[in-house]
Amino acid sequence: MFRFARRGTIKYLESGELSALGFLTHAFCTRRGGVSRAPYDGLNVGDLVGDREGNLLQNLNRVKEAFAIPDGGLILMRQVHGDRIHMIDEDGPLPEGLPECDGLITDRPGVALGIRTADCVPLFFVDRTRRVIGAAHAGWRGTALGIAARMVAALAERFSSRPEDILTVIGPAIGPCCYQVDAPVFEAFSAIPGAGRFLRPCREKGRWMVDLALANRLQIREAGVASENIYASDLCTACRPNLFFSHRAAGGRAGRQISLIMLSEGGMH
Ligand SMILES: [Zn+2]
Repeated sequence: MFRFARRGTIKYLESGELSALGFLTHAFCTRRGGVSRAPYDGLNVGDLVGDREGNLLQNLNRVKEAFAIPDGGLILMRQVHGDRIHMIDEDGPLPEGLPECDGLITDRPGVALGIRTADCVPLFFVDRTRRVIGAAHAGWRGTALGIAARMVAALAERFSSRPEDILTVIGPAIGPCCYQVDAPVFEAFSAIPGAGRFLRPCREKGRWMVDLALANRLQIREAGVASENIYASDLCTACRPNLFFSHRAAGGRAGRQISLIMLSEGGMH
């Protein structure tokens, strides 16, 4: 179950199942509650979209304050539509600058893993037994490369996570109602078994409609996570431009919203 909530000025979406765990903070932030001006109004966290740097820093500070993220504890990625995953170990150093990757995993409390999107799929992973978290960014390229399945595999390799202990949450992204693609995307997906479920022809010749959230759901299930442990918000970013930044809906000039997940400090609550 998903619900909207508010901290400070920020309106965000949360998963009832993750909140019930009691050992982490998480949020799929909307665009509401920041200081940026149109077309990036208001909580833009995209640094390469043309927004003023001062506004971006103020927005990030609001996020850190609202979610009580320790100094230096918000880790963002230089997202490159790949499938590389960066591990932040409990006793290792925090990355300097932005690691070039599309997935982050940590078992370290007080480190917030951030994903920036405007139509792409933000994904959270939680090993509820070992208390390890992950965050990934999956656009069509990352989805075709299998980044969601790689996150499950990386949790197993590094932390011996068992699929039955993993909960996955799929945040707001462009939906099958709005995500029309052309031949290169079709070709990248059509080889995937079961692609007929998330890739459908549309009226326009040479165009298809893609359900990116479903493609990721199927991939995560294939990696061993049970269906009942995969939660999807089913909110379309392009259908709700008043709530979310959408690259498609804005014709390419859009801000980025932040999704974040962080293990709580101080053990059990
Ligand atoms: Zn839509």
